[in-house]
Amino acid sequence: MQQPVRIYDVITANLASQPSAPALEYGDHRWTWTEVDDRIRRLAQALRDAGVEAGDRIATLDKNNAACLELTFAASLIGAVNAVVNFRLSSEEIRYVLDDSQAVLLFAGPDFVPIAAGLAAELPHLRRIVALGGEDDEYEAFLAGADPLTEVFAADDDTAFLQLYTSGTTGRPKGAMLTHRSVGSHTARVAPAYDMDARTVNLVAMPLFHVGGTCWALGSMYAGGRTIVVRDLVPDQLLALITGEQATHVFLVPAVIGMLTQVPGIGEAFASVKVLGYGGSPMPLPTAQAAVATFPSGLYSVYGMTEMSGTFCVLRPEDHRDADRPHLLGSAGRVIAGNEARVVDPATGHDVPVGQPGELLIRSEQIMSGYWRNPAATAATITDGWLHTGDIVRIDEEGYVYVVDRAKDMLISGGENVYPAEVERVLTEHPDIAEVAVVGAPHPTWGETPVAYVVPAPGREIDPDALITYARERLAHYKCPTSVVVLEALPRNAMAKILKQPLRDRAEQLVNQ
Ligand code: ATP
Ligand code: MG
Repeated sequence: MQQPVRIYDVITANLASQPSAPALEYGDHRWTWTEVDDRIRRLAQALRDAGVEAGDRIATLDKNNAACLELTFAASLIGAVNAVVNFRLSSEEIRYVLDDSQAVLLFAGPDFVPIAAGLAAELPHLRRIVALGGEDDEYEAFLAGADPLTEVFAADDDTAFLQLYTSGTTGRPKGAMLTHRSVGSHTARVAPAYDMDARTVNLVAMPLFHVGGTCWALGSMYAGGRTIVVRDLVPDQLLALITGEQATHVFLVPAVIGMLTQVPGIGEAFASVKVLGYGGSPMPLPTAQAAVATFPSGLYSVYGMTEMSGTFCVLRPEDHRDADRPHLLGSAGRVIAGNEARVVDPATGHDVPVGQPGELLIRSEQIMSGYWRNPAATAATITDGWLHTGDIVRIDEEGYVYVVDRAKDMLISGGENVYPAEVERVLTEHPDIAEVAVVGAPHPTWGETPVAYVVPAPGREIDPDALITYARERLAHYKCPTSVVVLEALPRNAMAKILKQPLRDRAEQLVNQ
């Protein structure tokens, strides 16, 4: 299939070529392409009947639910956009995102209806909440009550197709407007990059509010495979689904892969899995090594971001196993064809020499059209067609990308740049340490100094002074933490990404004591 002009082409193409083939699965539901098309068209008409107009936002708030994918497609058929809300957010954060989206209709899972109803008074745009599933499944009635839409909205390349919010790792989540062009080019590139085809059985275990969920799901739909939406990421259920459905593709975050490597016999349970993708945050080297030992084939490391409609860099299975180049395991892989990369000095904007660290800029059809209702942030992020990723990377002679750190996390100690991720990599190799996060704390002489927050490995105790000495034997002095604080767990967001801001706040208090 060509790159879809409108994302709905993904469905119409399969409808023409394999109408009765299994398309979408969720819980006990199994829908063919004919059924999926019929449901989405009815839903689109129902949205229109409910007064949703082109350009409007609707919102979905639930754990993973196939309805979220249906709503995204249905909204696009009338020129509206589904803004998918991260269900793991606090009620205040949910209010923020719903308010930001200006959604006129909200589809909420039964567990989330009370939260949404409680917020409704503060959401003047919201006209109606429709319960998804549960005792009285308003959604099924909503859909069944309408005839299939026949006349679809004439979207062009730049029309928004989907609104996903960034993970909020560095601040408030931002609504990335992903267009028919950005999502279409992403889909047409990643499906072959992950060897997806009509035999693919794809488990969508990552949340649909993230590109790792929705845009991963679109890959197997485009390839004509079976797409299975997993409601809860519970390890036992995931394993039962993999073996029961003989899943070929699954995407997980590094923290979950790390947990799975501890499960005895897991390799056999994954026997049918040809592609095990992971990404969204850096994978510590010991976890990557454990993953290679546990899942000897099929590991794909993925570097992507919401603003890019998902993936733009992949480390392929053969690179994971390259005995001559073990350093590749620390790489995020190579940029997928169709994406152009530059590495620039963030201060000057000039390209740095090959192999030197700098901010990664990408030019690509995959780039969002902008942040919803935030022209200032859009203008700061996309300049002359180049997306500023906010990530500091190195790209070697062969084109392998190494993510050094987020630009916002860098600290300057005595005039020297310190990338906390480099310090974290060294400390993670210490046997007493399970997890570590390094942040900058203000320092009267050096401007800033690194502080390490560490979580002990099971049954181990951490001696802060010994850890500082360990760091000094392996790193330049100015990079070494001057304080070590032991914690039971690190603060993480819904995508299991470590939240540095609360740690920076703590570090500041620490030095002010
Ligand atoms: P926000 O933009 O709201 O602060 P976020 O950047 O975490 O949140 P996402 O779009 O979900 O939101 O994540 C993209 C970022 O995640 C990338 O810019 C990068 O910093 C990090 N990331 C993604 N994949 C990888 C990877 N394979 N290795 C290292 N970092 C990664
Ligand atoms: Mg970001």
